[in-house]
Amino acid sequence: MNEMEYVDLRSDTVTKPTPEMREAMAEAAVGDDVFGDDPTVIELQELAANMIGKESSLFVPSGTMGNLIAIMVHCSRGEEAIIGDKSHIYLNEAGGMSALGGVYPHPVPNQKDGTLRLGDIRGAIQPDDQHRTITRLISIENTQNACGGIPLSVEYTRQVGSLAKENGLKFHIDGARIFNAAAALDVDVKELTDPADSVMFCLSKGLASPVGSMLAGTREFIARAHRLRKMLGGGMRQVGVLAAAGLISLEKMAGRLKQDHARAKNLYEGLKQIGGLRIEAGPSSNMVYFKLAEHIRMAEDEVISEMKKRGVLVDWSAPREFRLVTHYWVDDTGVEKAVQAFRDVLA
Ligand SMILES: *Cc1c(COP(=O)(O)O)cnc(C)c1O
Repeated sequence: MNEMEYVDLRSDTVTKPTPEMREAMAEAAVGDDVFGDDPTVIELQELAANMIGKESSLFVPSGTMGNLIAIMVHCSRGEEAIIGDKSHIYLNEAGGMSALGGVYPHPVPNQKDGTLRLGDIRGAIQPDDQHRTITRLISIENTQNACGGIPLSVEYTRQVGSLAKENGLKFHIDGARIFNAAAALDVDVKELTDPADSVMFCLSKGLASPVGSMLAGTREFIARAHRLRKMLGGGMRQVGVLAAAGLISLEKMAGRLKQDHARAKNLYEGLKQIGGLRIEAGPSSNMVYFKLAEHIRMAEDEVISEMKKRGVLVDWSAPREFRLVTHYWVDDTGVEKAVQAFRDVLA
């Protein structure tokens, strides 16, 4: 089977550049971005800062580097950051904040709805005592990936922002999928980012760029972030070829994410009719989670290979649990094909 025929629901990171992106990449005006000479990167950074509602922004190779840089700007070695125990920063960034930044993670539980309880955050702030580390930062994740791609509300984000301010702390948002959150909540993304000192978001997920993330904040914050990006080896040269795709992500892709969410809902409705799986709440953005029913004897890998034979790529997220993600390259026919394949495989 030709790879183009697969319906790939493993993640929105699998999104290939659109034909329009490939054309823009081929024709992009470029320069040496380490010299600050790349006009396409400059344009991308200005547009991203504008859309996200911050003074300035920086193109970084990955979301992981963007989060790490933000933490390292906000916190000195030996200081601590309050983060969710199901956050990407805590679980999936190879411990970079402590290994490279010397920053101590103070995890508090992510609730089912993706939030950190305000009381838990308050309780995690260290008193001024020589025995304790110094609390410097609160970070939340929107959408909250491991809790089901749940968007955190404007109201909640404001509350965290106020709590940070009252306690003299910095506030970072890991907004890898913040445009999905804005689409799901039907708000301007600026409302979700306004209370934060810094925001990272990914161009390379639902926004369909091949590579890259943006880190945004004040001019002063970005000046310090720029130096850290260089230190971490993230200074890139004629990177306008990637920024050209990023511009299309912001201009064309950010506004179409509701389609992905509608397809996730259709996928959920279809899967709900199938006996071999247990599915709880409907999707709140572009992710559908379900578990295999008790009577299904197949192992996860078997389900994955049987689905692949039927032209559908899926991945498991925890023992007996699957996460399916809709994106630009999954259309209505793809959703139907996936539901039919699960019906056959789990019958
Ligand atoms: C993907 C992701 C990141 C990191 O992005 P990479 O570009 O893969 O390094 C950070 N946070 C969340 C919530 C993500 O989903």
